Amino acid sequence: MFGPPGAGKGTQAVRLAQRAKVAHIASGDLFRENVGSDTELGRLAKTYMDRGDLVPDEVTIRMVLDRMDRADAAGGYVLDGFPRNEVQAAALDDALSGRGETIEYAILLECQREELLRRLVGRAKAEGRADDAPEVADERLRVYDEQTMPLVNYYESQGKLRRLNGEQPMDCVTDNLCEAIGA
Ligand code: AMP
Repeated sequence: MFGPPGAGKGTQAVRLAQRAKVAHIASGDLFRENVGSDTELGRLAKTYMDRGDLVPDEVTIRMVLDRMDRADAAGGYVLDGFPRNEVQAAALDDALSGRGETIEYAILLECQREELLRRLVGRAKAEGRADDAPEVADERLRVYDEQTMPLVNYYESQGKLRRLNGEQPMDCVTDNLCEAIGA
């Protein structure tokens, strides 16, 4: 599941995982857990997250692949916020092909910039997420355009891309999502 910050991918990924009875694996949550427990990985990740930049691929890929090895992911998973660039997508494909598995769908949640900015301002107030502050949110949007948008072509060429309108009411997005992938 991917989309710009504020498109609602976290919310929809949790709902899809519940509906499909599979694990929900969110790279941002894994980083925030590490920041919260002040691990070495957390301290490293924080320096990038605070600026709105991507955490280096090597540590990100290792962290997510390790999480995918846990027992609760054996029956499948929704990956939320990973991969976020082509290097990560290729590493994921490689790791999965070694296991005889593959990504089934790549879901893109789309949302206009104005609406994203409106939501991020609201979320900064409601949840106090430091990286929703305006300057950091701007950088996250820039990084999304530059590094994550190329995944549209990557997954479109594999025939796995499903585009969803993230501006509709939350329940409507969930219904469309489940319909799009037969969940
Ligand atoms: P998120 O909760 O998905 O918006 O992620 C919050 C922050 O965690 C991002 O702005 C990045 O700094 C970092 N992050 C999350 N997922 C990734 C990823 N796949 N690659 C690199 N950094 C990531």
